[in-house]
Amino acid sequence: MSKSITIAGAGLVGSLLGIMLAKRGYMVQIFERRADMRTESMLAGRSINLAMSDRGLMALEMAGLAEDIRKIAIPMRNRIMHDEHGGISKQPYGVDDQAINSVSRGDLNMMLMTMAEANGVTIHFNARCQSIDVDSATAVFGEEPNNLQTAQSDILIGADGAYSAVRDALLRTDRFDYSQSYLDHGYKELHIPPTPDGGFQLDKNALHIWPRHSFMMIALPNLDGSFTVTLFLAHKGPVSFEHLTTENAVTEFFATHFADAVPLMPTLLQDFFSNPESSLVTVKCSPWTRNSNIVLIGDAAHALVPFYGQGMNCGFEDCRVLIDCLDYTNDNWERALQLYEHHRKPDGDAIADLAVQNFIEMRDKVADKDFLRRKRIEGFMFKRYPTKFVPQYTLVTFMPNVPYSEAKRIAKEQDVLMARLMNNPIVYNEWESDAGIKIIDDEMETRKELVYLPISPSVY
Ligand SMILES: Cc1cc2nc3c(=O)[nH]c(=O)nc-3n(C[C@H](O)[C@H](O)[C@H](O)COP(=O)(O)OP(=O)(O)OC[C@H]3O[C@@H](n4cnc5c(N)ncnc54)[C@H](O)[C@@H]3O)c2cc1C
Repeated sequence: MSKSITIAGAGLVGSLLGIMLAKRGYMVQIFERRADMRTESMLAGRSINLAMSDRGLMALEMAGLAEDIRKIAIPMRNRIMHDEHGGISKQPYGVDDQAINSVSRGDLNMMLMTMAEANGVTIHFNARCQSIDVDSATAVFGEEPNNLQTAQSDILIGADGAYSAVRDALLRTDRFDYSQSYLDHGYKELHIPPTPDGGFQLDKNALHIWPRHSFMMIALPNLDGSFTVTLFLAHKGPVSFEHLTTENAVTEFFATHFADAVPLMPTLLQDFFSNPESSLVTVKCSPWTRNSNIVLIGDAAHALVPFYGQGMNCGFEDCRVLIDCLDYTNDNWERALQLYEHHRKPDGDAIADLAVQNFIEMRDKVADKDFLRRKRIEGFMFKRYPTKFVPQYTLVTFMPNVPYSEAKRIAKEQDVLMARLMNNPIVYNEWESDAGIKIIDDEMETRKELVYLPISPSVY
């Protein structure tokens, strides 16, 4: 059994994987490019949050951390849409009490690093990965010319994010496939502060969306009563960041498109001009493993655009699947990495595609009459046939034992059925009437129960 493991990157995924591997008895050291965020004042700024859903939580449960993390999460049970006229409408994310959870990225990362250290992991900070010898899986970390450290271990794991240095080294090897594609849209983070007494200015148990067809804004709650707001907008074009260069232009843009949010954002102009305009990238690559001793995980293997709220969840699920592959093979890394790649790569590709699709859904369709009707009919069908029809969002967000690739396949098949049903005026107008139910029942009677491929070699 290999004993020593080097992980590049103490982000969310690297820290969680460090904990899981240390708990299995491995000697783990992590090299992180940045300074230690727990001691540096780098988080003094405003918090940035992420939506954590069942896939992420299930991985945290495997590591024994879910309880602690739930304490710093705010459940969001609905998406609340804000229209141009200030009207709002609510869509539950799931059934009963199902929710996605808003978590501060910084708090979560700090907690995971502390837990990693408590489990015996050594984290080296200010240790950027400078070079890698892929044949011996040896990596050099630190700042040149001094403070360089060479890490030679049995396994090297690249958890160093979307612009991974470990992946860059693999890119120079034979037959390594790589694709990177940027959206025309970028994003900028803005801020809604708490009320003077520390309360929330908007419903705190919801993810707020201002869909405006070619662009949108969202807001997720933070524990201190504030919301982190993200504006997604084209970099260039008629309505785009390139025109928002003056205070007047920004004021007019927000007054026109997000009038109800403006009074909630007293520092809008300051935030707009001090926060960067960032880009959104999808990265796919293959293979994720080399020679049984180098492996990519998290964003290093598959960077997603954030519109399904699955990047971190997917990275955490990678950790769960990798550990399951180790379980299944009695820690035979050669075999475990083959299984990991076999099970995981199609899922990384699938969620990358679904995330781009969901961008269109969030900005364009959540305010569309037909789309909303279809969602209601889908909800009705899910209740009536829970083993035969499951909406895509539910498959992706609330069913961690269904691989993303299965979710994508099933959803595509269900799309055909829904298009047929939506074309029938009886179903379209009165799906809950006797006649509507009969048509749906007739369709569903011939459909088989959904059977899912296992997400990893052993079934949970
Ligand atoms: C705007 C936005 C919103 C998002 N919202 C969500 C959401 O709601 N839900 C969700 O699940 N996901 C979301 N994501 C995706 C999520 O942020 C990522 O998927 C997640 O952070 C990936 O974790 P990671 O550890 O793989 O990479 P990272 O978090 O990027 O961590 C990589 C770590 O490696 C370090 N590093 C980088 N290069 C080197 C090097 N050369 N040497 C050493 N260390 C290095 C970095 O400093 C960092 O600490 C969002 C992403 C964006 C951009």
